[in-house]
Formats: sequence, C-alpha cells, structure tokens
Amino acid sequence: MTDSMRERAERVELQRKINSDVSKEGASAYSQDSAFTARSAEHGQRADSPLAATEPLARHAIRPSRTARASNPRPDGTVRVPESYPAHILHPQPHVVRDQLRRNAKKPLRVMKFGGTSVGDASCIQKVVDIVRAAVSHSDVVVVVSAMSGVTNKLVEAAKQSAAGNRQLVATIFKQLRQRHEAAADTLIHSPEMRHSIVLKMAQVIEEGERLCQHAIQHQELTPRMCDAVSGIGERLSAPLVAAALAERDVASQAIEATELVVTDSCHGAAEPFMELTRERCEARLRPLVLQGVVAVVTGFIGATVEGVPTTLGRNSSDYSGTIMGAALDADEVTLWTDVDGILTADPRLVPEASSILEMSYREASDLAELGAKVLHPKTLHALMQRGIPLAIRNTFAPDLPGTKITPAGSSSGAEPKALTATNNAALITVRSSKVLGAADILRRTLATVATVPAEVRLIPQSSFPQSEVCVVVSSAAAEPAVEALRREFVQDMAHDSVSSITVNPSVAIVTVVGGEILGERGLAARTLDALRREKLLVLGSAPGSHSSFCFVVAPCDLNAAVVTAHRELQISAVDSRVLPRTIT
Ligand code: ADP
Ligand code: ASP
Ligand code: MG
Repeated sequence: MTDSMRERAERVELQRKINSDVSKEGASAYSQDSAFTARSAEHGQRADSPLAATEPLARHAIRPSRTARASNPRPDGTVRVPESYPAHILHPQPHVVRDQLRRNAKKPLRVMKFGGTSVGDASCIQKVVDIVRAAVSHSDVVVVVSAMSGVTNKLVEAAKQSAAGNRQLVATIFKQLRQRHEAAADTLIHSPEMRHSIVLKMAQVIEEGERLCQHAIQHQELTPRMCDAVSGIGERLSAPLVAAALAERDVASQAIEATELVVTDSCHGAAEPFMELTRERCEARLRPLVLQGVVAVVTGFIGATVEGVPTTLGRNSSDYSGTIMGAALDADEVTLWTDVDGILTADPRLVPEASSILEMSYREASDLAELGAKVLHPKTLHALMQRGIPLAIRNTFAPDLPGTKITPAGSSSGAEPKALTATNNAALITVRSSKVLGAADILRRTLATVATVPAEVRLIPQSSFPQSEVCVVVSSAAAEPAVEALRREFVQDMAHDSVSSITVNPSVAIVTVVGGEILGERGLAARTLDALRREKLLVLGSAPGSHSSFCFVVAPCDLNAAVVTAHRELQISAVDSRVLPRTIT
C-alpha cells in the first residue's frame, strides 16, 4: 500500500468513527463539537499519540454531560446545567497541567482569525486552508472563524421576522443558509462519508436555529437571549466546515464552539468575557489539542455565561474573539485575516488611494478601532494590551503581502499622522449660557447629567464661543434622553435666563486623524481645518480625541469629502514612504 493510500484509509477509518459519534450525539446539544482528527502530514501525530491522554480532562471538565444536555434542553437552545457545578469542574485546576504541557511546547503559537469574506464560499475556504496548512509547518495554530459573509445579517433578520410572525420568510432564510453551506461542503469535502457527516452536523445546527425561531413565532417575542442564540448559528456552521476542509487536506483539526471556552457576563448582544475563567477553559480544552498538533477551529462572536446560556460579544466581534483566544493561550501572535492588505490609511471605500500601514502602536490602532475603522472591532486590542502580544492584520486573498503589524510601541515614525477614520450616527448637543464665563460650570453639570442617562460622551468639541457655550457629542441613540435630562437639569437656569438654549443636531459625523504627535508644533490639526475650510466644508467642532488623535465634526453629507480632503492635506500615505509607494501627491 502506498503512503497516500494508507493515509486515505486511515482518514476513512477515522471518519467512520466520527460519523458514529455524531449519530450517537443527537441533534439538540448546543455545545457539541465535531472532531476531524485526521492524521497531520506536518506533525505526524495522531489522536492516539501519548498526548491524547490529556483529552478527557479537557472534554469532561468544562461542560455539562451529554446526557444532561440531551435530556435537559431549553426552548431557546441553551442547556440547563446542574444547579451547582462541582468546584473542580468550573475550576479544573489547570495549573499543573499547564506547566507540564508548556514544557513540551516548542513552536510559536499563532491564533489566526478569519473574517466573513475569508470564509465566504468554498474557494475562499480553500485559501484559508492553504494559509493554515503553510503555518502548521512552523507554528502551532488555533483558528477562529466568523460566519460566512452576510450570514449573521440573515440570521438576525430571521430572528426579527419570527417575532413579527413572518413564518414564510424565516423558512426561506434557513433554506438558503442550508443550501449555501451544503454547496460549500460539496465542493470542499470529497470523501462521501466525511461530507455526509459534515452535512448532518450543519443540518442539526440549522434545525436548532429553526426551532428557536419557531419558539419566537409562537410567543411573538424575541428576547435578547434568543436573538444571541439565533445569530450565533452562522459561526457554528462555518467552524465545522472549515475544520472539515482542513482535515480534507490532511491538517488535523477539530471544530469547537466558543460557548465551551469564552465565559461571559449575561449582557446579551455585547457580552464581556471573564478572562480568568476563559483562560482556564482554554488551557484545559485547547492546550492539549495544540500540543497534539491538532488545529482547533473555534467559533468567533459567541460565548456563554457560567450557567451555559449562549451570548454574543457584539456585531463584528470575531476580531475580539481572536484576541481573547490569543490572550487566554498566551499566544505569540494573533493574526486577523481579512479582505484588505492590513490597516489602510483610510477606509478604502471612501479613499480608493489609501495605502497599507506597515506598523502601528496599540494606542494608534485602538484609537482607530474605537473611532469607527471597520477593519478592527473596537474592543480588539483590549484583550492583548496587558500581555503585549503583537497583532497582525493580513489579507487572505494576498497572503504574501505583509499587511499591518500592531505592536505596543509601533513604528519609529511616531510623530506622523497615520490614518483617518470616520463614524456616523453621532449627535451634537449644545448648551448656551447667556453669561460670559458660564461655560465651566455648565460643562461640569452637562457631563454629570449625560452620564446619568447613561450616554457615553464621545467628544467634547471646542465651541466657537468657548466662554459661554458647551458642546458634547453623544451617539444618535442617546441624544433624545440626554437632551431631556439636560432640560430637567437646567430648568431653573432657563427660567432665570442664565441658560439661554439647549439644542441638538441629531445627526453628525466624527472624522478622526490618528497618529503620533498630532497636536505638536507641526500644526497638523490647524492645517487640516484650513484645508477643509478651503473646500467650503463646514466644521461643526473639533477637539483632541486622545493624546495621539484629533477629531472634527462635520455634517454626514460632508463626511466623504472631509475624509478625502484631510487625507490629501496630511499626505497620510507618505507615512511609511521608506517602504511604501507614495500614492498621493
Ligand atoms: P472581516 O469580515 O474580515 O472581519 P470586515 O468587513 O469586518 O472584515 O473589515 C474589513 C473591511 O473594513 C475592509 O474590507 C474595508 O472595507 C473596511 N475598512 C474600513 N476602514 C478601513 C481601514 N482603515 N483599513 C482597512 N480596511 C478598512
Ligand atoms: N459574524 C458576526 C457578525 O457578522 C461576527 C463577525 O463576523 O465578526 O457580526
Ligand atoms: Mg470584522
């Protein structure tokens, strides 16, 4: 028998085992995983290697038993766990295991997160497989995946339409999702047994989504908890698909649902991880796989409370899932693989000539992320900052390009502006005093009042009348309650004419210039504002964003022109002219 025939035979045997596992498990458990532990050509290790002895610890210590899950499903797809987990189950004493396993670790550990377009169809997933396959020859790899592009939107729509009783539309959405995923599986997986197994697994997940929606249709209600359970279905479909595609190309892999790993609070739609618990679970569940050379393919976007209720970390948050995994495992690097060549000097949809930034600091990147750059979820850097783990942003469709590297200190060209970002959906509130020198007191009371709404003050732009006028920018959604609260706070002052008006512009945009010493002697802020005025773009206010950024406020209709003008004026593409072509003259 030739080597490749033997490998094939081994995989078929393994698949037979997986199939029988899947059929034993039944359809209802949320936190099932599908295992594809085909022999790894690169590692030459098998699931029955000595290291596999660590597997049961991971499997059984951190989730309810299968019997408990099967006999005890909730209508929203979550699993009732026993009232109290034994302490050793919630805290599986991982330290001894961790230390012992660490001693065996030799290769650098890379966490690779692939976004929605990177797993958008079979041909994209093939590129993901190529990248992971190349990486496992020199690194240990943990993969985090998003849902296929557009799938989460569809699921959210299905959830909402269920509450509205739109049964037919919901059925159509699930039918299309099923077809799209099955089409990808058909192209990616050639072994009939493996394909059958993966299609079955995906069908179970889709049926679970349908059941959740049925429940919402019957009760004409969509709770945040239900919405999270439905919207996380996309990642639960893509993870087994990617794991199977890796196995098909002889990369040992296992799909794992992050409900097993990422322990969050119960803030549905924007859950926050408890990092210590998450770290313990990742050590117990993922580290043994890493040491066996098995690539864990983890669902991004989702987590679960300590009680096992599924949550999501917020839209677009798989980036955050990637860095949570990186921090939890103390990875050597996290890479976000996406559809652009790293972080560009501006949103390429607004500024087509924007170019890649080779290196940025944590601070610059998190300013960009928090102030609207879609390429990074706002919380992406939170998990990494404490540990100093570098973050790379690279293009799945051009893997030879370097993309962007984000390090604690960034590049030496720290004094230059690096990039521009813009965000809509903000509101500008102005409180005017009739007294000159009344602004300091008004500002103090305005900030205290807005904080009670609670609304986050995104910016305090300098007014044209700084001695008698206070401006704050909040999100559009918070504008109305903030203004109502301010009117109550200043009711006496308005009666006595010491406050003359409280006005709101409900829709403004914030443009942010991010980069080193933006407010230093070089006068970049002043130059930008002059350039905008020359273009007759009205600036409604401006202010330092943080020590490395400055922001200005414009009408949404001026946003595109403002970004293009500022980009040109600051010649931002020239930042890394040592290595990158200067595209704007
Ligand atoms: P993924 O699905 O891989 O997470 P996203 O769509 O969330 O990808 O983010 C990548 C997109 O972000 C790019 O396609 C681009 O259109 C947009 N984007 C906005 N601002 C920037 C920027 N400064 N640099 C790069 N991409 C940006
Ligand atoms: N699939 C999720 C979303 O679309 C998370 C992500 O892709 O980052 O919001
Ligand atoms: Mg994204």
